[in-house]
Amino acid sequence: MSLGYSDTPIITGQKWHVHDGDRPQPRVVGPTNLPCLAPVKAPSDATILFDGTCTEAWESCKDSGNVGWKLVDGGAMEVVKGTGNIRTKKSFGDIQLHVEWMAPAQTRGDGQGRANSGVFLHSKYEVQVLDCYGNPTYPDGTTGALYGQWPPLVNACARPGEWNIYDIFWRAPRFTDGKLKSPAVITVLHNGVILHHAKELDGPTMHKTTTNYDKVSDETGPIELQDHGDPVRFRNIWLRELQPYS
Ligand code: MG
Repeated sequence: MSLGYSDTPIITGQKWHVHDGDRPQPRVVGPTNLPCLAPVKAPSDATILFDGTCTEAWESCKDSGNVGWKLVDGGAMEVVKGTGNIRTKKSFGDIQLHVEWMAPAQTRGDGQGRANSGVFLHSKYEVQVLDCYGNPTYPDGTTGALYGQWPPLVNACARPGEWNIYDIFWRAPRFTDGKLKSPAVITVLHNGVILHHAKELDGPTMHKTTTNYDKVSDETGPIELQDHGDPVRFRNIWLRELQPYS
C-alpha cells in the first residue's frame, strides 16, 4: 500500500512529488529527554494565547464567534470534531511561538487519520500536527512537516498520550506593491530537536498541489489551529513578537 501520492506535481526545486509516498521517512530520534510533561513557562514579555483557563484569545473560523472546542482537565483544550478551526482574534507578524499538544493515548486510525491537527501561521502556512509515533505516512505530511513542502529532518514524536512541544520561529513573507520581496522563513523545534532550520516556504500550504505567493500579500495574520476531526489537545500556547535588532 502506498503511503502517499505519485500523481501529484513535482514540488518546485525538489525531486519529489507533493505528498510522495516514496520519499524517505524521517529518522526517528528517541525519547531521551521525554516525556516532556512539565509545561514550559512563558517569558515575561510573552503574549499568552491559552493558559488553560479560557479561550478568550480565540474565535471560530466558521463565524468569528466563540470557539466550539472544549476545555478539559489539566489546563488543555480539545478539538471537538466538526466545530471547525480556531484562530487568534489578533494578527501577528514575525514571532516566536510556543505550542504544546497531545495525541490521544488511545490511538485510532492510521496515516493522516491519526490525531491530525495543525498549527497555521497567518492562517495559511501549516506546521503539521499528527501522531507519527510508529505511524508512517507521506513524509511531507508527517509530524512537524511543512505540509506538502518539506518533511521534518527527524521524527521526534512523543508517545500517544504524552505532551509534545513545538517552538516555532517565524519570519513572515515580505511584499512590495503586492509582489513577493522575500518568502516566509521558518525554524521549528519539536521536543527540543530541530525539524526545520531557517527553511524558506514556497507559499501557503496546499493539498496535493504545489504553491506560490501569487494570491497572497499579507505580512501579518492570526495563528490558527486545525479541526481535522481528531480529539487532539493543546495547552500552554504563547508567543513573543520579534522586533528588529536595534
Ligand atoms: Mg493537519
